[in-house]
Amino acid sequence: MKSHTRVAVIGGGVVGCSVLYHLTKAGWKDVVLLERDQLTCGSTWHAAGGFHTLNGDPNVAKLQGYTIGLYDELERISGQSCGLHRSGGLLLAESPSRMEWLKMAHGRARYLGLETSLLTPSEAKELLPLIEEKYFVGAMLDAADGNLDPYGTTQAYAKSARIGGAEIYLQTRVTALARRLDGTWDVATTAGTINAEHVVNAGGLWAREVGRMVGIELPVLAMEHMYLVTDDMPEVVEFNRTRGHELPHAIDFKAEIYMRQEHNGMVLGTYEKACVPWQPHTTPWEFGSELLPPDLDRITPSLEIGFKHFPAMEHAGIKRIINGPFTFSPDGNPLVGPVQGLPGFWCACAVMAGFSQGGGVGLALSQWMVNGDPGFDVWAMDVARYGEWATRRYTNEKVRENYSRRFSIRFPNEELPGARPQQTTSLYDTLLAEGAVMGDSWGLETPLWFAPRGVEPRDVVSFHRSNDFPHVKAECRGVREAVGVTEIANFAKYEISGPGAAGFLARLMTNKMPRAGRLVLTPMLNPAGKLIGDFTIACANPGRFLMWGSSQAQIYHMRWFESQLPKDGSVRLRRFDLDLVGLSIAGPRSRELLAQLTDEDVSGAALKFMDHRAMDIANVPAMLNRVSYTGDLGYEIWVRPEYQRRLYAEIRAAGRPLGLILFGMRALLSLRLEKNFPTWYRELRPIYGPFEADLERFVDLGKPDFIGREAALREKASGGALRRVSFAVDAADADVLGDEPIWHGGKVIGWVTSGGYGHWVERSLAQGYVPSALAGETAERAFEIEILGERRAATILPAPLFDPAGARMRM
Ligand SMILES: Cc1cc2nc3c(=O)[nH]c(=O)nc-3n(C[C@H](O)[C@H](O)[C@H](O)COP(=O)(O)OP(=O)(O)OC[C@H]3O[C@@H](n4cnc5c(N)ncnc54)[C@H](O)[C@@H]3O)c2cc1C
Repeated sequence: MKSHTRVAVIGGGVVGCSVLYHLTKAGWKDVVLLERDQLTCGSTWHAAGGFHTLNGDPNVAKLQGYTIGLYDELERISGQSCGLHRSGGLLLAESPSRMEWLKMAHGRARYLGLETSLLTPSEAKELLPLIEEKYFVGAMLDAADGNLDPYGTTQAYAKSARIGGAEIYLQTRVTALARRLDGTWDVATTAGTINAEHVVNAGGLWAREVGRMVGIELPVLAMEHMYLVTDDMPEVVEFNRTRGHELPHAIDFKAEIYMRQEHNGMVLGTYEKACVPWQPHTTPWEFGSELLPPDLDRITPSLEIGFKHFPAMEHAGIKRIINGPFTFSPDGNPLVGPVQGLPGFWCACAVMAGFSQGGGVGLALSQWMVNGDPGFDVWAMDVARYGEWATRRYTNEKVRENYSRRFSIRFPNEELPGARPQQTTSLYDTLLAEGAVMGDSWGLETPLWFAPRGVEPRDVVSFHRSNDFPHVKAECRGVREAVGVTEIANFAKYEISGPGAAGFLARLMTNKMPRAGRLVLTPMLNPAGKLIGDFTIACANPGRFLMWGSSQAQIYHMRWFESQLPKDGSVRLRRFDLDLVGLSIAGPRSRELLAQLTDEDVSGAALKFMDHRAMDIANVPAMLNRVSYTGDLGYEIWVRPEYQRRLYAEIRAAGRPLGLILFGMRALLSLRLEKNFPTWYRELRPIYGPFEADLERFVDLGKPDFIGREAALREKASGGALRRVSFAVDAADADVLGDEPIWHGGKVIGWVTSGGYGHWVERSLAQGYVPSALAGETAERAFEIEILGERRAATILPAPLFDPAGARMRM
């Protein structure tokens, strides 16, 4: 084995081999793969080999599309067959809700450029005669579905990588990882030590163990998974004979099974409710190419439904039962990217659908390593989306929940109960007693809405407006007419201090930094000029800044900040997490309320819009920001957690005579829509530039230097390809959720990023991106937005419907 390499990829499953191939493709030739045993000997060899594009996240769906398109290239380069069967696949809906879900998936597929079509049950039966039509209300055909040979495909990646210059060492187990002072890694193996500039954890079933070598506990867990292979079936033979092609794949959501043809029989796999984790603590190193004992009892409930839905299956003989383990993250998407605090250590693990996702993971990671950026939006699979709260037990509960719900509908207003409550603030019980319906916000229980006395605090899940509607409306009205209070502990909060703090922030952020006692809003760009953050920054004094941002992106942002810190120690960076918590009061009477809680002058003249102060509020040391995401007069009050209950109690007491109401995240999001305010991760993502996102006023191109400035100048000159716009939508009883296609002139020209009902303005609202040339098309009903399969007229709103001049915020 050589003594030094640029990249050591640990693991020769389909994912490690894909990473290796893509690194060579991106131009890095000095790369090696270290495999404990033989290629594919982890979860890869016994996979059912199915592939499809369907994914809850459109960006992951795109990467799945990339993976599926890659196999021809691999076969061409390597000369190795991947054993491809591009048979197409049917997603079978057994209920109206499932059909609505398929309509949404079909709508989304349109703007992703994927080929899908909706079918009636009899059209589905025509394609797949095995089904009993009466159990289904419709189906969606996905032309990209198919299956392959897992071994051949992995070898095709490996051969292509070798042709590109990579080396593969088999029978070479990595036993330890140590970081040198120069930042490189000593990778100790059973065949000697190799020094590497970068290490990639593609350890699959052993990814946790490889993570532990560098002191981290990755949120990944293996589950047992079973599929059956039947004997030859006369129905299959007959179909092939008369049609001249294979049967399409099928997913039967109700039965929780997937099926496809194999030779003259079928493969049938289940995602059963009674699922079982495999090796919940440690995967033994000696586990090899062996299978686990099958347990048909566990999957009997699925089979019973499946046999009704596909009667021929009941009589088919079973040739083989495969039970093998493979890994999942808590939300089922991969864990990819650099690990915060460990420069040069990368993850490519928890890939539960290696043959749909492996290519995309390899592409993203290789671009990230070679260019410093994955090149597209990989947030949904970024390892940084989890915080320290994603412990082993949390992961265990969530992975089981996710596995058992793999084929269940996740409604837009559905909060899943697994592993909750994980984190709570000191107000948790108090707010529950007030009727709070809680949601999970980056592992923290956060109030969504409040059920008035006599109303059950529970969501009725639906794609349509639901039981929370009148209550969220009352909360919105309460804010707009008087004053409301909401908990905002879930925001990300940071402190940046030291003599270099101002310069550091000026270089990272697009806006001018504030002077002492003031706030600014500012986007943050990557070198390519795309949005990687959006913050509120306060200057306490010239050597100390406070910053607030998206809760979900805390680790993602810390990773970026750390990578940009000056080496001279002149900047100190702190993430408060729940060491700083907050309450926001908002509405025209919020100043009156604040005045009762402090003896400071909080008049409009003394405390202006976008002011920042440190002051006692309710006899509690607090930081105060005069800003509110509601777009109304409002204040954010930030205190240490031990003061939060007192602050809350005094706000409640002083607010009673003013008509104070409690409001939750749903009202907050509705109120921000009425102001056309964007939100991180929906409107603001690394696929958009600041001008496209309509954030021009927060980009100070007069500043001599900030990251992304050159690209921002180019974007300004060109106007950008896209434009974020807000719409009023002629919705019926369902509002947009996000990811719906936007139509214009009979064509899909854009997509919705978020939306909902604006309860104060009483309009259904949406935000999304359209080609910039169409952004000025403000004629009434010039666009259509597809909601649950129906096209609804939509009108661009050039100005917010609530307080377009911004007078309320400044009053
Ligand atoms: C029954 C079953 C059916 C499935 N069906 C499908 C399907 O139809 N479609 C689909 O897309 N996916 C399917 N999968 C999932 C698929 O198998 C996985 O997504 C895929 O195998 C993940 O590949 P990987 O490379 O991440 O992990 P693995 O295949 O587990 O590879 C990890 C490799 O790393 C090596 N390794 C680990 N630690 C070290 C170390 N310290 N030193 C050196 N080497 C190390 C291991 O030996 C192993 O070879 C199925 C899985 C099972 C079990």
